[in-house]
Amino acid sequence: MTTSALSPTTFSQALLDWYDQHGRQDLPWQHPRTPYQVWVSEIMLQQTQVSTVIPYFERFMERFPNVEHLANADQDEVLHLWTGLGYYARARNLHKCARQLVDEYQGEFPETVEEVAALPGIGLSTAGAILAQSRGVRAPILDGNVKRVLARLHTVPGWPGKKPVENRLWELSEHYTPHQRLADYTQAIMDLGATLCRRGKPDCEACPVNRWCAAFANGNPQDYPGKKPKKALPVRHTVMLILRDHQGRVWLEQRPQTGIWGGLWCFPQTDDSEQMPAALQARAFDARADAQPLDPFRHTFSHYHLDITPLEVAVDTTGTQDSDGRWVDPKAPGTLGLAAPVKKLLGSLDAPRQSRML
Ligand code: SF4
Repeated sequence: MTTSALSPTTFSQALLDWYDQHGRQDLPWQHPRTPYQVWVSEIMLQQTQVSTVIPYFERFMERFPNVEHLANADQDEVLHLWTGLGYYARARNLHKCARQLVDEYQGEFPETVEEVAALPGIGLSTAGAILAQSRGVRAPILDGNVKRVLARLHTVPGWPGKKPVENRLWELSEHYTPHQRLADYTQAIMDLGATLCRRGKPDCEACPVNRWCAAFANGNPQDYPGKKPKKALPVRHTVMLILRDHQGRVWLEQRPQTGIWGGLWCFPQTDDSEQMPAALQARAFDARADAQPLDPFRHTFSHYHLDITPLEVAVDTTGTQDSDGRWVDPKAPGTLGLAAPVKKLLGSLDAPRQSRML
């Protein structure tokens, strides 16, 4: 069977039957499922797992049992009760939102998804979750768990951070949202994503909708939803000068303590090969032969690619070298801390090349 044979009623019924047997029905914010309790839990659950949230939620409710208590509190106290949950903007918005609810709505949540979503720190999905769970309003939701379930069920390609992908997932969420048992359905689809349709190793065998799931049929649930595309990193270039003395040793210099490869040992570098004569002169070296280019290669940092062109040059020493540098046997560099590309280059320098150059 495929998703084309799946009606919204069949989908929601399958989910609700599963929820009645296996869903989470004893979470502290489900008893009673007031807008205030659901709201606080939804905000705490953003980026944080249920098991971590429960003790925070219970302490929070003990201290701030309703919107008025929260609105009247000092921000410091709210932040204190949030300590350890992280993402403190959530707590600041929660506090700000409580004040707005008291000032503008007599401490009650408004009736429509649009009005709730306009409050500080509440997006469309959280607004839907609050109204569906506390008041049974037919409001679709699209948190991370629901995105994953729907993207897999329909093999929706692409990263949900892209508007067209997100729009398609909202359409599906709207399509499957039933007209009855909204609170349970909303909890059920979130639970399915959190407990069976997990990011890694989904338990498809136990899934109540597996017979219609396109990704399960294709054997590739983990390809959905699509990953965030990696940003193209900028590319920089450098020339590494492999300076060799008569014994075939190479010249390494210690980098400054700050910046890339801080304190590690490296070949002298220039921006391009035309700067090589000046670099040799600055170090009191004379080239004994033309520079030999070696195979260029790329080293990637988290924020840019560095394209490295190695130039090998046999040199004579014409004076005293800077104390920051030293001659090193490329096959036995000892205990010097080496930048990764330098280590790679030293490993590629072989004896025949040394003898050819000497
Ligand atoms: S069958 Fe697997 S991939 Fe499909 S919805 Fe169920 S758990 Fe997710």
